[in-house]
Amino acid sequence: MTWTPRQRAMLAEMGLSTWGTPAPCVLPTPPTAPLVTPPAQPKTRPAQQKVSLVQPTAPSASSVPSAALPIAQRESPLHQVDWAELQAMVSTCQACALCKTRTQSVVGGGSVRAHWLVVGEGPGEQEDLQGEPFVGKSGQLLDNMLRAIGCTRHDTFSDGREAPPSHQVYLANAVKCRPPGNRNPLPDELQKCQPYLQRQIELLQPRIIVAMGRFAVQSLLHSTEPIGRLRNRVHLCQGVPLVVTYHPAYLLRSPQDKAKAWVDLRLALRIAQGEDPSGAPNGLFSG
Ligand code: URA
Repeated sequence: MTWTPRQRAMLAEMGLSTWGTPAPCVLPTPPTAPLVTPPAQPKTRPAQQKVSLVQPTAPSASSVPSAALPIAQRESPLHQVDWAELQAMVSTCQACALCKTRTQSVVGGGSVRAHWLVVGEGPGEQEDLQGEPFVGKSGQLLDNMLRAIGCTRHDTFSDGREAPPSHQVYLANAVKCRPPGNRNPLPDELQKCQPYLQRQIELLQPRIIVAMGRFAVQSLLHSTEPIGRLRNRVHLCQGVPLVVTYHPAYLLRSPQDKAKAWVDLRLALRIAQGEDPSGAPNGLFSG
């Protein structure tokens, strides 16, 4: 297969150097849409939410307009809070036992103007110490993955250019406090933390959500299906298109699946750029 210099540079970001070498036969075809940074656009909900998309099994209360919610939920304190109040609530949260072992909670990180929301599992040791999401080895891989699709969690790209919201990423986790010894989050912990993630989605109004790994999927889609069965198509979460992919920690252990994550990220990119999911060929976007 012949790659253009631009595609070669992108693949280098994704893996030919730092991601390991995916076999050419499994590498996806070059993107149809040019991956240039478009100018910043006013932030509106994606126009295309037609629905050969996969609906979540149990839509959350916040996926409906506030006026349609039962009064109790509409008036719940969390439904009203802004970013600063949410930060304060999470940092003092004692809803589950994780508060007893955390150094600090990790609400999220990145621009609140971002069009992208990437959701992981929960803080690890470094995140718990630094109060930032994805600062360890998984975070380095995640940054490379994002760079490969022209996105960043920062305000500027590595060459100093200002990053427009369309290419900015806000990072969050399914649980905001570190499970001791990096064990898996328990169902009760995921459930107690879920309203915070729901509020983050309401506040951010992302154009695309990327759910990385099974705990993000459990929290956002209420599904325990394996990632391999949920990836490579578009779901809906609180009215926002959502793409499932592997967690970077898994990819560090299983580099043979990096090529699949590349496919998933390119799918997310196409949705974020406004491609109509229902018009795609090959049934890629349908359930
Ligand atoms: N893994 C996650 O899922 N989230 C983090 O913030 C760090 C590692």
